[in-house]
Amino acid sequence: MQAATPIDRFAVITAPADWQAVDFISDLHLQAGEPETLEALASYLKSPTTQRGNALFILGDLFEVWIGDDVLTTEASDAADAVFWRTCASALRAFSKHTPVFFLHGNRDFLLGPAALAACGMQGLSDPTVLVFQGRRWLLSHGDELCLADTDYMRFRAQVRTPEWQQAFLAQPLATREGIARDMRTQSEARKRSTGHDQSLWADVDTHAARAWLRRADAQTLIHGHTHRPATHALGGGGLQRVVLSDWDLCATPPRAELLRLDGQGLQRLPLTP
Ligand code: MN
Repeated sequence: MQAATPIDRFAVITAPADWQAVDFISDLHLQAGEPETLEALASYLKSPTTQRGNALFILGDLFEVWIGDDVLTTEASDAADAVFWRTCASALRAFSKHTPVFFLHGNRDFLLGPAALAACGMQGLSDPTVLVFQGRRWLLSHGDELCLADTDYMRFRAQVRTPEWQQAFLAQPLATREGIARDMRTQSEARKRSTGHDQSLWADVDTHAARAWLRRADAQTLIHGHTHRPATHALGGGGLQRVVLSDWDLCATPPRAELLRLDGQGLQRLPLTP
């Protein structure tokens, strides 16, 4: 008789027993051209401990783009951007001295490496990761890996997540990488325009894949970002659900900024708009 195939386990992080609450955010898309969004993050980071969780989990796309950790240390070709990245990093690092900050990659900042994690005081997580909090398991992800219908993106993702592609990209001069990143964004904007602004046409998290992940993780709730469509979706299967985080855009009308807090009572959304 053949032995059963071992179950491929997801990474697990267990919250210390003294954590009362944890906060989740994603898709801030921090960028120099929108300092208001960084201000909203900074005001959360400076808020009294009674208004914050015991840990902050950033589920990807913290930054609008990340082309290599050297943007923090070398003389970047665009000096204003370099100052902005360093301001973001020092705000997070100061916060991390008293509150742990965890980060998993989004599709915009997938190149964020160990040096930038250290500069931001963040602990890297694999995507997905199971968080065990007060005895229950919660599955955390950026969510892009589950948007299976977006086949162009899935192909792109498979390519850029290989160590070979990343090494080759990072070996290029900063100015070259900036040019490539600009071209990629122009192409992605053009694709979005061709789909139109009807969000219902954009790829969403695949329900079957989400259920499969939850079963494999032995969890009921998937918490993710990426789609910028905050909602709670029941997935059947005895109470499975996915909870989608909001993106942040303080320049939008109305402005958007929200965190999801998990405590002994469950999940709640807390607006962080001024
Ligand atoms: Mn994303």
